[in-house]
Amino acid sequence: MAIKEIQAKVLLAHVRQPDTWFGLRYNMNLYRGCQHRCIYCDSRSECYQIEHFDRQVLVKANAIELLQKELARKRVVGTIGLGSMKDPYMPLEAQVNLAGRALQVIARFGFPVHVITKSDLVLKDLDALCEINQVYAAVSFTVTAADDDLAKKVEPGAPLVSARLRAMRVLAEHGLHTGLTMMPVLLFIEDNEENIRQIVEQAHAHGAAYIMPSFGVTLRDRQRAYYYDGLDELFPGLRQKYERAYGERYHCPVPDAERLSSLFHELCRQYGIATHMTPYQPGAAKQLSLF
Ligand code: SF4
Repeated sequence: MAIKEIQAKVLLAHVRQPDTWFGLRYNMNLYRGCQHRCIYCDSRSECYQIEHFDRQVLVKANAIELLQKELARKRVVGTIGLGSMKDPYMPLEAQVNLAGRALQVIARFGFPVHVITKSDLVLKDLDALCEINQVYAAVSFTVTAADDDLAKKVEPGAPLVSARLRAMRVLAEHGLHTGLTMMPVLLFIEDNEENIRQIVEQAHAHGAAYIMPSFGVTLRDRQRAYYYDGLDELFPGLRQKYERAYGERYHCPVPDAERLSSLFHELCRQYGIATHMTPYQPGAAKQLSLF
């Protein structure tokens, strides 16, 4: 995959609508493109205008300088999100350390942070995250399949699920608010009781405070085309089943969503895992991990 440096004009984007999932006020992308190559990734959709998503990663070479300037001007402290649209801990981050340097800047300015990733590489920034956690730091790991081999098929460039879970355990042991985003759950591939049960059990064993689920996937334009090509290669015959089940629909819930959701909520209740995360609350006492 080609790597190119670019100069960005702006780094922090305001989140306009209240973010009921992660409580984000600002969003930050350090890269364009993603080396994890998940076959279902929505960032390939035409509306985001990311050309060559699977062929190149653009590195915002001036990101740290911009972040310092922009945070110095912010009057309202609010959670900064890292990780929508591309994973800040893709393999390239091990050399470039953009996320690591950005977290150090954020720690100096005292802003809260939420990171979403599929990588245990986040552990390289444990010190900065712990410092930010004096205000608030949360890390969500995306896990859609409990089985390493299955996850490697649908998320070929991402670290093993078992490595993500071990990283979550370390963060939990250090008092960070950490859990899973279990989304998307893919029809005919991941929408079975055994997968959901194993994810919840593994999450519990590795200190998850929460699991946020989505029983289905969204599909549109070139993202759908890429996903269907992936199905043809990895799961012959499934494309036709998807086409029959969903046609041109964007929201594609799994037919068994209600039953799986009931099972999921019951398992989370048994294990004491929340089904949503606790976002940063200005002035509120910080939540401590019970793990
Ligand atoms: S890690 Fe996230 S951004 Fe990267 S390819 Fe996978 S779904 Fe897309």
